[in-house]
Parts: sequence; structure tokens; C-alpha cells
Amino acid sequence: MAIFGESVSSPRLPNMTRPDADKSSTNGSAHQTPAESFPSESEAQAVALRLQRLLDEHDPRELDAREFRGHQYDAGLAWVHHSPHAGGMDARPDLQVHVERHLSRVGLTSRPAVEFFVYLAGPTIATHGTPEQCDRLLRPMFTGEELWCQLFSEPGAGSDFAGLAARAVRDGDEWIVNGQKVWNTLAHLADRGMLVTRSDPEAPKHKGMTYFALDMHADGVEVRPLRQITGEAEFNEVYLTDARISDEDRIGAEGEGWRVALTTLSNERSAIGGATSEPKRGSGPIANLLEVWASLPEERRTPILRDRVAGLWIGAEVNRLTNLRAAAARKSGNPGPEGSIAKLAFTQMNKEITEAEVDLLGSAGLTGYDYTFRRPETLSVTGENQGPRYAFMRARANSIEGGTSEVMRNILGEQVLGLPGEPRVDKDIPWKDVPRS
Ligand SMILES: Cc1cc2nc3c(=O)[nH]c(=O)nc-3n(C[C@H](O)[C@H](O)[C@H](O)COP(=O)(O)OP(=O)(O)OC[C@H]3O[C@@H](n4cnc5c(N)ncnc54)[C@H](O)[C@@H]3O)c2cc1C
Repeated sequence: MAIFGESVSSPRLPNMTRPDADKSSTNGSAHQTPAESFPSESEAQAVALRLQRLLDEHDPRELDAREFRGHQYDAGLAWVHHSPHAGGMDARPDLQVHVERHLSRVGLTSRPAVEFFVYLAGPTIATHGTPEQCDRLLRPMFTGEELWCQLFSEPGAGSDFAGLAARAVRDGDEWIVNGQKVWNTLAHLADRGMLVTRSDPEAPKHKGMTYFALDMHADGVEVRPLRQITGEAEFNEVYLTDARISDEDRIGAEGEGWRVALTTLSNERSAIGGATSEPKRGSGPIANLLEVWASLPEERRTPILRDRVAGLWIGAEVNRLTNLRAAAARKSGNPGPEGSIAKLAFTQMNKEITEAEVDLLGSAGLTGYDYTFRRPETLSVTGENQGPRYAFMRARANSIEGGTSEVMRNILGEQVLGLPGEPRVDKDIPWKDVPRS
């Protein structure tokens, strides 16, 4: 279906189509076997064979999605690039895309309600967890039986997250944690939290941190809603008061929390930037903009607006293709600092798209929004599919969550372009001596 009205007298645009009409991105049919739809080289065919076996034994159209995902995990097809004890088979990371693509073609359409944190906690535990932790934590995370949240930020530690103060003190085989976390997305639903604490105040700030998989139902863990511009409380404050954590739930070595957290953060930036999914051409926020455009009366579809919409469509497509290319080139499971490119580019694009939607609506963009307080059960950082007014407000957070755009530019400048670093005067002094407000 062509989406731009034919009667407007501006230069013809390429035929920008709805996603379901996009032949270029379907990549095969439901009748193809994995062997036919995967690349022909041997590593890809080994994954295809594993997938064929999984599908022979378990039909995703008949099983509950959670049950099927359990079998998928056991087959080593949850994250093919992870080791066999972590839901993988030590294969190339880009082959996971082929697995997901094939599964959705043959009928596995339902995914966990809060999948976002699987992209963060999954690689973190697979990279830094013990085999026992992988066995215990990864399968229920992948199936969606246990939901996760992220407990990094504090009132005094956001961009400078390494300055955090939530204190963990060892007590035999346990740790006692006191402190406050903030902006914790969907913590009200979570069973587990990725928690980073200060375990050694005598050490410089990056060296005295320890990372845990916190049981969110433990005594001393209190979750309070924080209301946002959208009216909903998607995020929360989390208070930790003498909360006890078993040492079995420590991820990585004592004092190594910064290194472990970097794995979470790099995966978060990629996930927000859209680098972990494989969206179809014209899907996502840009599809919403096209819907608003299509709903306009003909006289309002001026050449100037058409030019703006076309420019955004092209920008969204450039981002999509850049992400696909980066995913195909990735040699290891964890993205490097270049993941910040995806995050920065997505943020800018999503803000521009949602602004355009509201502009196209004119004065109607200012009315008809329900600000009733609510606590959502799913997360969409794009804000898509909940109407242009919601999307416009939700997109404001994109340049803050997962690291601000200024911080992304710092990372790219220093770690990708090799520019001189910011002065860091507190880097080598004990955390307890760093002045704090
Ligand atoms: C919708 C949303 C969801 C979130 N979800 C979570 C979550 O689930 N878990 C979690 O732990 N956190 C979460 N956060 C918190 C988020 O990670 C922080 O808000 C973010 O890292 C910024 O920290 P801050 O808010 O303390 O701002 P600050 O760090 O105080 O920054 C204030 C301003 O100063 C700028 N700035 C700071 N340092 C520098 C620098 N070195 N160079 C240039 N400019 C700088 C920033 O860019 C910003 O403009 C969420 C935030 C939002 C908005």
C-alpha cells in the first residue's frame, strides 16, 4: 500500500510501503526448513540442524510460549554464541538472528512481557556468572518465568554511576545491603534485580564495587512508584534496608562490580538503540508516523511536510541498516563502545519522529491524552503503538535512560575516536574521600 497521497504536487517519492508488504525483509517462507533458510557454511548448518531437531520434537504452535522457550534454551538456541551451560552452543553471534527469524516464521510469536532486561542480565550472567549461576538464573530469565530489573542509578550517582553509595557489607556467607536506588524501570514486576553496590569504600570508586542478582522479594527490599511525564509510573525507587543477599548471588568477584556492570551497560545501549532486534523495513516508530500522515486530510499534506516525513523515513532506514550491518559484523556476544552509536542515533531519530507526529496532528496533538496514574506491565522505550501523544512524551526519556546523549558522545569520543579523555580527578583516590553533595 502506498502511503503518500498521489494528488500532492511534489516530486514523486520512492514507494515507501507498510512493513507487511515489504518483500525484501521477509527472508524465506514458513515452508523452508532451517537448513534451507540458513547460510550454507558448516557452522550455520550445525545451528540449523539443532533447530530442526528442536522443531521436530516441540511444535511452537501447540506449546505455551514459555514452555517452548524452555526447550529452546535446553537446545542451546537461546543465545547460540553463549557456552552450552548458558543456553548456547559457542556459535557465531549473528546466527541467533537466523534462529529468531525462523522461529517467528514457524509460529513462535509471543515473547516475554519484559524482554528488555533479558538483553542486559542474560549476557552479564553468561559472561561473568559461574556455571551454577548460569544454570540457576538464565533459564527462568529466558522463558520469562523470572522477570528482571536494573538497580544501578542512585540519587547521587547517575552518569557518574561508579560513584554509587549503596553499601554491601559481608556477613559470613551473606551480604547485608543498605541504600537507595532510583529510576528502576518495572522494578514493581521484577523477581530479580541487577544490583551494584559499594563493598569497599577504601578503594578508588571503580575498584570497590560488587555486583549481585538480588532477590526482589527478600525482606528489606521496598519498591515505590515514581510518576513520569506520561502519567504512568514505569520506573520506581527501590529502598534497601538490611537486605540480605546470599554470596551465591554475587556475580563476578568481590570488588569487580564495575567490570561486570560494563557488560550490562554496553548491552543496554545496544538494546535501546535497536541493535539487538531485527526490525522490518518501515516498522517501529516510523510506521506510526506514516499512520498519522495517512490520516491527514489531503489539503494538509503539503510538500514541506511530505519532505519532512520522507527525510525521517530515510533516516530510520539508515539506522536500521546500520544496526543490521553492525550485528552481522560482531565477532563476540557483547557489543563494544560502538553500541553507543546505535543508542545515540536512535534517540535523536525517535525524538524527531515523535515530534513530527505531534506537529502533523496540529492542535489535536495537545488534547485527548489520559494522565491517569498507572503502573505499566510492559516496556517500550520507543513509545510506539500507544498513540502519538504518549510516544512524544516517552521519547523525551530516550536521551537520558541507559546513559545520556552527552555521556554517549563522551564514550564515542574517547573509546572509539581516541580523543583525549575528560579530566577525572577522583579516579585514584579512595571512594570515601571523594567529595559528595
Ligand atoms: C525512563 C528512564 C528509565 C530508567 N531506567 C533505569 C533503570 O531501570 N535502572 C537504573 O539503574 N537507572 C535507570 N534510569 C536512570 C538513568 O540511567 C540515569 O537517569 C542516567 O544515567 C542519567 O543520570 P542522572 O539522571 O543522575 O543525571 P546526571 O548524571 O545528574 O546528569 C545531569 C546532566 O548532566 C550531564 N552530564 C553528566 N555527566 C556528564 C559528563 N561527564 N559530560 C557531559 N555531560 C554530563 C548529563 O548528560 C545530564 O544532561 C532511567 C532513566 C530514565 C529517564
